[in-house]
Amino acid sequence: MTTDLNAGRSPLDLESPHSIPVTATATPGGEAPDVDTGPLAYARAQLSDAIAVLDLDQGVYSMLANPRREMTVSIPLRRDNGDVEVLTGHRVQHNVSRGPGKGGLRYSKDVTLDEVRALAMWMTWKCALVDVPYGGAKGGVRFDPKRYSREEVQRVTRRYTSEIIPIIGPTQDIPAPDIGTDEQVMAWMMDTYSASQGYTVLGVTTGKPLALGGSLGRPTATSLGVAHVALAALSHLRRRPTATAAAVQGFGKVGRGAARYLWEAGVKVVAVSDEYGAIFNAGGLSVPDLEAYVAISGTVLGFDDSEDLNDRDALLYLEVDLLIPAAVEGVLHGENADRVHASLIVEGANGPTTPAADEIFRANGQLVVPDILANAGGVIVSYFEWVQANQAYWWSQTDVENRLRERMERAWHRVLEYAATHRVSLRLAATVLAVDTVTTAHLTRGLYP
Ligand code: NAD
Repeated sequence: MTTDLNAGRSPLDLESPHSIPVTATATPGGEAPDVDTGPLAYARAQLSDAIAVLDLDQGVYSMLANPRREMTVSIPLRRDNGDVEVLTGHRVQHNVSRGPGKGGLRYSKDVTLDEVRALAMWMTWKCALVDVPYGGAKGGVRFDPKRYSREEVQRVTRRYTSEIIPIIGPTQDIPAPDIGTDEQVMAWMMDTYSASQGYTVLGVTTGKPLALGGSLGRPTATSLGVAHVALAALSHLRRRPTATAAAVQGFGKVGRGAARYLWEAGVKVVAVSDEYGAIFNAGGLSVPDLEAYVAISGTVLGFDDSEDLNDRDALLYLEVDLLIPAAVEGVLHGENADRVHASLIVEGANGPTTPAADEIFRANGQLVVPDILANAGGVIVSYFEWVQANQAYWWSQTDVENRLRERMERAWHRVLEYAATHRVSLRLAATVLAVDTVTTAHLTRGLYP
């Protein structure tokens, strides 16, 4: 597939990706961008591959390799003991050609501006691939919420929100939960934004509680979408769910639900992990019992009827058929990919596989279902939530889940068909389809001025 929309343009004709209409600051502390390795380098390498397939020029690459708009803010926090600490937060809008920015808000001690930039770029591709009318955005605050009281987390959330109010809103940029955030955080954001406007604006965040304009089916949407594509991929590989052993890395909002839906479909979930460690049972874990256990213990470790693995990453190398990385990025890389046995890897997390690992999996004939397809269920139902909130008209859970399944299956078949026709990986197929959609929208709008 090629497009000549940019034919005859030189890179200098193209709009600067850095048109920043609001105050944007350098990262406090002068953080050096890590451009050669890490998520941003990987996201740019994937973009570069798609640009080559689409036969687009360097100007389009430059336009899409850099965020459209970004904001870095300082967040002074009064701790419960009276001490004051200053945290750093970011909001990055990678591309808004197809609609408002959309993407999660991450609370983690590992947040960096480059990570947020990469995650925002992946959101642009994801929204385009599943045809929701959004661009890509992402936010992050660099702190570990588990080490702060709930009141402190609320103060961080409200101050961060008030700092980024100039660039968010239901028609500008709509945050959602990600690592370390949840529906309560989305409610605080919505309330802070609404207070600044003088009226309630339900559409400013998604992933909110049901009592505040949340959607039925949103908490489980990402997991359900992961399970849909995992089962579709197993069927493509002519493997029965009941003859499949799976390992799931991460037992949070995405991993927990994915494990649950696969278990319900008959898949034997033999291992799961979290940040504290990994557990294993060759006969299969009872996922509902494990969920109940983790709700009390806060970790998968010590679950009855399982053994703790010495190393949490040992889960990645088990003799399983299906591996679902659903934790953080960069866990499958050039140094460990050849130790992975799973013939099918379905990316619940964003960016878990580096380009070097992708190469190894491809050479070994292992199928990778990429993040921008596999975990798109979350943004699909976020879109449904936003539509419902804007119309003040609510759908049933069955409506939400049927529409989710339909979109996930459509995207899966589209990507599979492109990959088969052009003999490329599913990741390249998905990225090419998405980049083509975004580039067409961007260049059809025209470059201003
Ligand atoms: P979460 O905070 O709810 O859960 C993260 C889980 O990963 C926790 O169980 C944590 O203990 C575990 N973890 C962290 N580091 C780990 C490691 N090194 N090894 C094993 N486990 C580890 O976060 P989440 O919302 O489930 O997000 C997980 C991933 O899915 C992220 O990459 C996120 O960007 C992506 N994602 C989330 C959504 C969503 O709707 N929440 C949507 C799309 C993609």
